[in-house]
Amino acid sequence: MDNTEFRRVAHRFVEWIADYYDNIESYPVSSQVKPGEILNKLKKSPPDVGESIEDIFMDFERTIVPGITHWQHPHFYGTYPAQTTYPSLLAEMLTLAMSPQSTSWHCSPAATELELRVTDWLRQILSLPDTFTGTTQESASISTLIAILTAREKWSEFHVNQKGLYKQKRFTIYTSEQSHPWIVKAIRISGLGQDNIRYIETNSDFELDTKELQVQIEKDKKQGCIPLMVIATMGTQNTGAIDSLKKIGTVARKFKLWMHVDAAYCGAAMVLPEHNHFLEGIKQANSIVIDPHKWLLTSSECSVYFVKDVKALQKTLGMLPEYINQKEDKKIVNYRDRSISQGRRFRALKLWFVLREYGVQGIQRFIRNHLDLAEQLTDTIVRSPDFELLAPVNFNVICFRYVPTTKMSAIQVDSFNHQLLDRLNASGKIYLTPVDLDNRYGLRLVIGQTWVTRDSINAAWQRIVLTAQQLSGEM
Ligand code: PLP
Repeated sequence: MDNTEFRRVAHRFVEWIADYYDNIESYPVSSQVKPGEILNKLKKSPPDVGESIEDIFMDFERTIVPGITHWQHPHFYGTYPAQTTYPSLLAEMLTLAMSPQSTSWHCSPAATELELRVTDWLRQILSLPDTFTGTTQESASISTLIAILTAREKWSEFHVNQKGLYKQKRFTIYTSEQSHPWIVKAIRISGLGQDNIRYIETNSDFELDTKELQVQIEKDKKQGCIPLMVIATMGTQNTGAIDSLKKIGTVARKFKLWMHVDAAYCGAAMVLPEHNHFLEGIKQANSIVIDPHKWLLTSSECSVYFVKDVKALQKTLGMLPEYINQKEDKKIVNYRDRSISQGRRFRALKLWFVLREYGVQGIQRFIRNHLDLAEQLTDTIVRSPDFELLAPVNFNVICFRYVPTTKMSAIQVDSFNHQLLDRLNASGKIYLTPVDLDNRYGLRLVIGQTWVTRDSINAAWQRIVLTAQQLSGEM
């Protein structure tokens, strides 16, 4: 393909994208294909000779699109939002056109310096203390892994990086039983061993119980373990529960634990001053992660990891001997030393476009709208005799289920809601994910889509009620 051809095709693609967003509601929200269906349509061997973009595009439309679940659909209420917006998309076009690396400052000075600036903008927007320094990472999972590695190295005075962990004393890590499941993987990768995670019970609001935390730490100390780290969650995946940073911070200070805050999803709500009280205690934290690629209008991948002790981070992940680093200008930041991968995408550009195009007020309006819609739907559910909430609604995560006024056993209610969810998702008109809280199965609906509106929420609720009534009538 030459430049002239690129120009022609690229314009068509932009038209396709604009049409896609115009007509997104005509697609089934979740892909309706069967396992293997797409694979079987794909040629088993690569082409010997190059094919035309027209042919490839035709196959994209015919074969790939039907296998896509449309996360940008206004009726996508599952898992968590993976937003994208026009400024983010446009910035990605420019990023991909230049494809610069942001491994070291020399690789692309603007990539490094924009990342320094824009992560600090984000820190200010989220009202985080200026003791935190941000770096972009590919995901919250990687950011949490980095926090664990840095805590491990700082505690061991960088001994583990050098000598390894085998038969060392056991480091213990504390987090709530509602924390994100990926934490287990991070602990495995870090070599600390998943048996050394201590899942702390939660209270009736699904928040980590700090009394239980303290009891467990003392027990571990008596058994010769080294309490290393506590991971608090601001917005659990299940219910959006918010652990008390203040109470956890007090325990962390007492036992000298590294305190990491997983605010991957709900941290975005800190753009609203009325929610800043949730940050009380954040000064005690050593690190916090927030994903703009979830609920801050920026397309994947764009996670921002904030850490206080940047030197410890650099010493943990930096590869070059100290004397080489020292030769470099002290003003230079080389992001390879703050990341796991050497090659790094230039992620800051899209965040910069988004923050500038929306402005702080625009972002606040956007988040506030989701919270208003969530409040409205919560009220509706509370007023509906056949439905119940399964957990307090935090931010925009709503867990609920159908409980008919006619008698049903607990197992029948679970089974009913299972079928209700399957039927709703199979309709292609709406997509929700399940939740299991204290052995009660229910539906989890998150209002965080870029293009969700009051009308979509009203239509979604009508569909849920109608489907539940139909199902009930068939029983
Ligand atoms: N932490 C929380 C609270 C989450 O909700 C999620 C994803 O839903 C993650 C971590 C993982 O985020 P990522 O996909 O960026 O690794």
